[in-house]
Amino acid sequence: MNDETKRQSDTNGSAPDDPFAGFTIDFGGGSSGGTGIAGGESAGSGESTPYGAPISFGAPAADAPAVDVVRRPAARGPSANDRRGGGDGTHTKLLIVGSGPAGLTAAIYSARADLKPIVLAGIVPGGQLMITSDVENYPGFPEGILGPELMNTFREQAERFGTRIIDVDVERVDLSERPFRIWARGIEYRADALIVATGASALWLGLESETRLRGRGVSSCATCDGFFFRDKEIAVVGGGDTALEEATYLTRFATKVHLLHRRDAFRASKIMLDRAIDNPKIEIHTNTAVDEVLGDAKVQGLRLRDTLTDEQRDVPMEGLFIAIGYRPNTEVFRDWLDLDEKGYLVVHDETGSKIEGVFIAGDVHDHRYRQAVTAAGDGCKAAIDAERWLEAQGITEVQTASAW
Ligand code: NDP
Repeated sequence: MNDETKRQSDTNGSAPDDPFAGFTIDFGGGSSGGTGIAGGESAGSGESTPYGAPISFGAPAADAPAVDVVRRPAARGPSANDRRGGGDGTHTKLLIVGSGPAGLTAAIYSARADLKPIVLAGIVPGGQLMITSDVENYPGFPEGILGPELMNTFREQAERFGTRIIDVDVERVDLSERPFRIWARGIEYRADALIVATGASALWLGLESETRLRGRGVSSCATCDGFFFRDKEIAVVGGGDTALEEATYLTRFATKVHLLHRRDAFRASKIMLDRAIDNPKIEIHTNTAVDEVLGDAKVQGLRLRDTLTDEQRDVPMEGLFIAIGYRPNTEVFRDWLDLDEKGYLVVHDETGSKIEGVFIAGDVHDHRYRQAVTAAGDGCKAAIDAERWLEAQGITEVQTASAW
């Protein structure tokens, strides 16, 4: 799940829209001169750079606190109550798999409709917002809210109305008959209706430095974080439509966007590529891989590699967007539900699936919007559809509209 995030620079007294509090990169007069990444020399403070100007890193300010200073919901495994096989503790009218905005909104709605849902939240509950710092585009929080804190409020709200949330990963499902059977950490759950809200995960390059600087200049969501790179020089990795779209979007904010692609052929559609080529703020670097993200507390540069010659070079850079695709979390459902050509679950009639009683919500089917608020809306719709379906089956009593 992706959403408008703001890096935590304001917590150390810097401008709230400065994701690199305490660091300045001085490109001097060379930055706007059409200089490219390719062919540069090694960049270090005071040395000549590929931009033809010395880089001056100011004294770093106190480091911004990491996202996980925020109170996270305590992970909870299955209790003794959960272990009563088959009956009481593990049979529910509605089971929800996933605990991002879609899953927990479905839980809030269905708990308020007295369905007493169980949420199997995953061993890392909360979805992608748990690795997001400030969320500024979720309605209702004019000052913004930290991603983990937002998910904690979702969780508390769901629990307040009687949702049982268990932080376990689903290992296997059997959707051949009702009640559906779902196994997690060796325990079998049974559900009359099921909502799949397992989300999608952004793919990353897999560099240690990329992980360390995530939220400190490394991002996987331009819509979310672009705003914080106003007047910065940044890079986007990838050669598909996402990368081209994000690069184009980011030119609204950045002074220059370097598109780094490991090959010289693009997966992106011609129209997107042409648009990027025509954009004077985008510089495309083919046969270019990122070997390292440079910087201690914030992104300061990139170690790039020419994929044809293996030659490495360091360049200054103030931000890095990884746009190499997403992986929908469908593993345990792929034998039961339809997947589209991109591997996302296929919905029928808004939130339904090809199996009656199985509903789908959020990024696990939505590769178009991928926003917390759209996922939450989807979770609401799935809960209402599940409730109405359960009513139609005679499993729940008919509710009035005001029950929601
Ligand atoms: P894609 O799979 O199309 O492209 C991923 C890109 O990332 C490829 O260029 C790939 O390189 C590169 N890549 C993958 N792994 C790495 C890695 N480890 N290091 C460096 N580069 C890597 O994913 P997208 O997210 O771009 O698109 C997914 C789907 O969504 C597509 O069908 C696309 O058309 C669609 N989409 C449509 C949009 C629109 O119409 N507006 C917007 C966004 C997406 P390589 O080519 O060498 O494999």
